[in-house]
Amino acid sequence: MPDPRMPDFRLRCPPCGRSESADSRSSRCPECDGSWLIEYLFPAAESPARAPGIPQIPRLPGLFRYLPMLPVRDVAAIVSLGEGGTPLLRAARLGARLGVGSLTLKDEARNPTGSFKDRMLAVGIARARELSHHTVAVQSSGNVGASAAAYAAAAGLSAKIFVPRTVPQGKLVQIAMYGADLVRVDHPSPAFIFELLLWASQELGWYIVSTTARYNPFVLEGAKTIVYELAEQTSFVLPDWLIAPVGGGGNLGLLWRALLELRALGLVQRLPRLAGVQAAGCAPFVAAVREGRSVQQAGTQAWPQIDTVAGAIADDLVFDAHVALPAIRDSGGTAVAVPDQETLEMQRALAADEGLFVEPASAVALAGLRRLRQEGTIEEGASVCCLLTGNGLKDVATAAASLPDVPLVAPTRAAIAARVRAR
Ligand SMILES: [Zn+2]
Repeated sequence: MPDPRMPDFRLRCPPCGRSESADSRSSRCPECDGSWLIEYLFPAAESPARAPGIPQIPRLPGLFRYLPMLPVRDVAAIVSLGEGGTPLLRAARLGARLGVGSLTLKDEARNPTGSFKDRMLAVGIARARELSHHTVAVQSSGNVGASAAAYAAAAGLSAKIFVPRTVPQGKLVQIAMYGADLVRVDHPSPAFIFELLLWASQELGWYIVSTTARYNPFVLEGAKTIVYELAEQTSFVLPDWLIAPVGGGGNLGLLWRALLELRALGLVQRLPRLAGVQAAGCAPFVAAVREGRSVQQAGTQAWPQIDTVAGAIADDLVFDAHVALPAIRDSGGTAVAVPDQETLEMQRALAADEGLFVEPASAVALAGLRRLRQEGTIEEGASVCCLLTGNGLKDVATAAASLPDVPLVAPTRAAIAARVRAR
């Protein structure tokens, strides 16, 4: 007999209305090529079958305790490295400096491979096992690649990771250590490399576990668990604003979907407004929001030249504009671009004021908050939560470039005394 708490879901294509069962192997609608939306058939809030709170199975590991809200049905397919369960930290000093009433940081750098992508790939690899795939593949600026490689290793699957030439050394080494087949393509554009990956995957039968909903509607669902945790950590009183770094846009869309789910379940009344932040040197999403571009335009107009230290979000296309643009619009949110200099300042402030060493792509959220305060978009005294998406140790070279050199000191008391008094 099936466990009544196992998720029941179906795939639906919003443009044409077609739907398929959870067993479907198609990554997109075969009728109109639309992206699938995953619909969960969980019991309504007033149903006597549902316990209070977010539907979950506490005995399952990592984020799989939220299994009823995730597109995985076979518990035997699950591989967990202890992802999720990240702390929500109060940043009182930084919050006061930025003029907000309360600033909290959801520290996703604590995930097993050092980035929030582990939430997605845990789901993606479970889905790959459910569908009996042996080889998974992604295009990545580093974080997705590391997550895919680690979870594939733990699951005994092969991983093909395509990266652009600009990937930092730390991320390359991390992916290689997990034993993945690392394909370093001599090109800077994620959109271009994605085309090569699509071709190779079709030729060789690899299962794409990209965090782009357009190419795999299941993987991104893992991002929803950030919001579930946030809701539980705030006793279901969510902040006024939720600020997230944006690459292809999918994470923003899934954060919003999770918020809508919580409201539909009757667990929260007031939802936060979403703000998406990109680096000024690669900001196609911000351009799309601020210039009112259509989903079609945003998903096809590539950013001409990538120039930023925030490589983890340097997507030159808004791959998931179909979920990201509605998330901003429907939440009454906004998007903002920040220059690298401000990102690096906030990276140092997070480390020196709050004890958190994050990668530049995470620090953009704080730089974005500062800009939105200056613009007056976020009011003084508002409550704000920023997502910190990746660990600073993944790209030490960028951080080192903004710090002074550390000179050697002679091994004598006199030299030590001169050195420490000089400080
Ligand atoms: Zn369709």
